[in-house]
Amino acid sequence: MTAHVEQPYVYTQRELVEPDWTRFPGWRDVTPAQWEDAQWQRVNCVKNIKQLRDLMGDLLQERFYADLERDQAERATMSMLVPPQMMNTMVAATADPMPAAGADFTAAFYADPVRLYMLPVFSDRRTDWPSHPYATRDSLHEHDMWAVEGLTHRYPTKVLAEMIPTCAQYCGHCTRMDLVGNSTPQVAKLKLAGKPVDRYAAMLDYLQRTPQVRDVVVSGGDVANMPWKNLEAFLDQLLRVDNIRDIRLATKALMGLPQHWLQPDVVEGIERVAKTAHERGVSLAIHTHVNNSASVTPLVAKASRTMLEVGVRDVRNQGVLMRGVNDSADQLLDLCFALQDGAMITPYYFYMCDMIPFSEHWRVSLAEAQHLQHAIMGYLPGFATPRIVCDVPFVGKRWVHQVESYDRELGMSFWRKNYRTSIEAADTEAISRDYVYYDPIYSLPESGQQWWRSQGDHGADLEIAMARAAASRDAASRAADLLAVH
Ligand code: SF4
Repeated sequence: MTAHVEQPYVYTQRELVEPDWTRFPGWRDVTPAQWEDAQWQRVNCVKNIKQLRDLMGDLLQERFYADLERDQAERATMSMLVPPQMMNTMVAATADPMPAAGADFTAAFYADPVRLYMLPVFSDRRTDWPSHPYATRDSLHEHDMWAVEGLTHRYPTKVLAEMIPTCAQYCGHCTRMDLVGNSTPQVAKLKLAGKPVDRYAAMLDYLQRTPQVRDVVVSGGDVANMPWKNLEAFLDQLLRVDNIRDIRLATKALMGLPQHWLQPDVVEGIERVAKTAHERGVSLAIHTHVNNSASVTPLVAKASRTMLEVGVRDVRNQGVLMRGVNDSADQLLDLCFALQDGAMITPYYFYMCDMIPFSEHWRVSLAEAQHLQHAIMGYLPGFATPRIVCDVPFVGKRWVHQVESYDRELGMSFWRKNYRTSIEAADTEAISRDYVYYDPIYSLPESGQQWWRSQGDHGADLEIAMARAAASRDAASRAADLLAVH
């Protein structure tokens, strides 16, 4: 008999629940048939404050709207677009008892993890360092690495195809805020110049003449916003490129608008594409983006299972690690088990939030990410234990424990890579150089914060920081040498 052993995390199998949407005054009369209709979901997305008011009735206090309005004017990098499916997972009715309208509901709404990244408000953000001095619009330099318009060639064998600059939902922390969505008062978005048909043809042409590429992430935006016939036509042609062995469809809408992926024409279309992929020995997978267990409902599970039933090889999750949303081991494990047990979605990655403007309040330090990776090990099957990764500019995804050296006082981590990106063909030092990622400054000890303040508006003296990193690495290798001798 096994003795009961207390564990830091207690696993419980939980039944998924679709929260009751009629608890919102604006949806009191919405029927299940309407709710499950993709078109109804799209038409009833919350796109502005007036629509949020109409939905909420007397639930929310006025201060929330003022906070949201100020954020939209002064901070937001993404415009507002929240499908009913996602709104309905905020302050879910399953959180019994439902908070009373007014102060209680407003407090619960402020604290809600899905609200925190889908409807950010001004008071959420840092006032000391709203942006890191090295935050940039296209922080991963995806645009710089376009082989043809919209096709990022960063890794040796993999490309990212940005098919469309829109999504079924807009996330406040979107790393592609440079390109995706409508312009906001703070951010005039980059516009794709070519016609979609010409861009897709150029992408396919590049893939045909670049046989070292074997893997395409077909993304956006969100492919759920492409007319199905256009997406299927592109996939059909992609499947004819002999060197392409892996195709991953990127769609947060599998969670945000599962109704889209349950439409008969889409299901039948996926089945056709999956059959062709199978015949040609190509692995077709769907990658989605779920950040909190509250988002995993029976409809999300139904969409995921349907995709698997019609031949998609795997549905995987790539979440983003964000403070208040999922920055505890319990929240991460609750989410992973909801995905794995309930929806047959494989937990795959959690990214550290990228260094885009006004994202500091969401970002966690590398040390915190390393701690979380440690804390979630051993509970899930190995194949479903997500890796927490840092997407280092000019490098790519690195597991958080792969850091070369780490100055915790200044919040700088240094990384190396083992390949050249498409823009480094002539760069002889690309694979011997250190690349830097920065912790949020407010998370540093006071001495580190003071150092950053002393650098003024133009950021830090990187030379000094790099020298410190080199010195600490030398010290580490000297210590290793000494240990080896003894
Ligand atoms: S779904 Fe993805 S691409 Fe679209 S806004 Fe959200 S994070 Fe950005």
